[in-house]
Amino acid sequence: MDDVKQRLEADLARTVERIRRMGGGVVFEEFPGSIGDRTAMADEVDLIRVNEDREMSFATRSLLVERANKLAEALERLREGEYGICQECGEPIAPARLRAMPEVLTCVRCQDMLERSARRLAPAGAAFGGDEGDED
Ligand SMILES: [Zn+2]
Repeated sequence: MDDVKQRLEADLARTVERIRRMGGGVVFEEFPGSIGDRTAMADEVDLIRVNEDREMSFATRSLLVERANKLAEALERLREGEYGICQECGEPIAPARLRAMPEVLTCVRCQDMLERSARRLAPAGAAFGGDEGDED
């Protein structure tokens, strides 16, 4: 079990480090000034690429934050001796699943169920009021 702890801690440290690196000033890549003949066209292309990179890092960042939270939670569960137990149904989580994703808190079945109900809940607001209109 110490292996898992070390892996979780290393993973968490790495994830936090990545968030920190993204966090402060937003990651403007340093473009080498050595490109000789930059036309206006090339500048525009660069600008677009920078914007795309920025949006990408926002998405990546929230994923990383989510992962850091999960890793921290998994570590806490490890300390409490509840690591590897599905927090939904209390059944042990398959070791292969834990090896692949040490931060998971639920078994495959519950994860699947949670994802399905999340998907069912998501469009509920949009469908509201649309149901009755269909009747006639
Ligand atoms: Zn479960």
